[in-house]
Amino acid sequence: MQAFIGLGSNLDNPEQRLISALSALQRLPGVTMLHHSRLFSSAPIGPQDQPDYVNAVAQVAFSSTPHELLHTLQALELAAGRQRLRHWGERTLDLDILLIEGLNIDTPDLQVPHPQMIHRAFVLLPLLDISPHAHLPDGTALSSFLKQVEDQRLSPLAELDCDALIE
Ligand code: ATP
Ligand code: CA
Ligand code: CA
Repeated sequence: MQAFIGLGSNLDNPEQRLISALSALQRLPGVTMLHHSRLFSSAPIGPQDQPDYVNAVAQVAFSSTPHELLHTLQALELAAGRQRLRHWGERTLDLDILLIEGLNIDTPDLQVPHPQMIHRAFVLLPLLDISPHAHLPDGTALSSFLKQVEDQRLSPLAELDCDALIE
């Protein structure tokens, strides 16, 4: 199955953290990196007294179940020193499952599509960057939500050669 994964960090060298997380993703057994976006800088949502975020989106193929993928991503967050301090607060690494092919999943610990994704420029723009025709399971084009996020601050980071840095 294929999934889009949203990556974010705003603590302890976020750019390097995203590069390391992309490397870690592609080294996971049973996971193949298909594409990843450039890195973007975004304004925080939630508490405003925290640093800007660095974000990216990756498209992967994976051989486990969706819940196993979630647990694997949570283990990578923990390995990056993730602590839950406050809701939508600062973090070393956040890995969200955004979409899994045409699936709708609504369980207590996993909702797919990610319920907030259509409201977030830092998800929509990097995702559309690598998959311009991506859509929700009901067929709605993700590009149709761009209008509602146009006020959110997001900028590509100076062209970093991620591919050279990801091992
Ligand atoms: P948001 O979900 O609004 O982006 P957040 O990323 O800060 O907020 P977390 O504290 O990282 O939220 O995660 C809270 C819980 O969300 C996790 O324990 C996880 O079980 C659940 N969750 C539900 N759906 C998803 C999903 N699609 N991807 C990742 N986690 C999810
Ligand atoms: Ca998140
Ligand atoms: Ca999360």
